[in-house]
Amino acid sequence: MKQKETLLNSLPEDPMAELEDLGDDHGLASLETPMREDAFVMEEELKVELIAKHFKEIMHILGLDLSDDSLKGTPRRVAKMYVQEVFSGLNPANKPVARLFENKYKYDQMLVEKDITFYSYCEHHFVPIYGKAHVAYFSSGKVIGLSKINRIVQYYAKRPQVQERLTVQIANELKKILQTEDVAVVMDATHLCVSSRGVGDTNSKTGTASFSGKFNDENIRKEFLNYINSK
Ligand SMILES: [Zn+2]
Repeated sequence: MKQKETLLNSLPEDPMAELEDLGDDHGLASLETPMREDAFVMEEELKVELIAKHFKEIMHILGLDLSDDSLKGTPRRVAKMYVQEVFSGLNPANKPVARLFENKYKYDQMLVEKDITFYSYCEHHFVPIYGKAHVAYFSSGKVIGLSKINRIVQYYAKRPQVQERLTVQIANELKKILQTEDVAVVMDATHLCVSSRGVGDTNSKTGTASFSGKFNDENIRKEFLNYINSK
């Protein structure tokens, strides 16, 4: 979190007031992914079919020859990738179910899972955002498997996203599952909409963080940040 740093809950009164515009005027409207009421009425297979049809139209309008062997399969390939892979986290049916375990060892220190690689998509440009997520919590008496933390990160990443919302959605889900406020999430990411176009800033990274409970304590927060910044 070197360059643009946004502490989402440093201002509990109105956390949104201090949000910076990120890169290409990326604002954040709501912490919930804006979804239609009827988002999952349509069958997946029909979604794939319709997206393929429209994507073919986009390619056609761009002037591409869709009879070319190399391009022919692209519309359907993109449609399947959207529905079944990169945006599969829109569907609550795909949400990971986390089993809680008793904290048998009575470990009462900070648990940290660092360098979780994630791939998401900027909802303003539909190009990738990728980077690392670092998560920490203090057990309330329950723990979850480390792979579950990873799955929760991937689930929320697989949506059109804004990095701040992604960070808060992961933090909120972990708080709910772990039954504690003592959760921290830090994300460092590269936005292709910033690095590959627009201002063309190839080296900038965007950092976001959500700290709550014990992580509001400066020393505890420092301990976590020192750990994730160490090699
Ligand atoms: Zn963007």
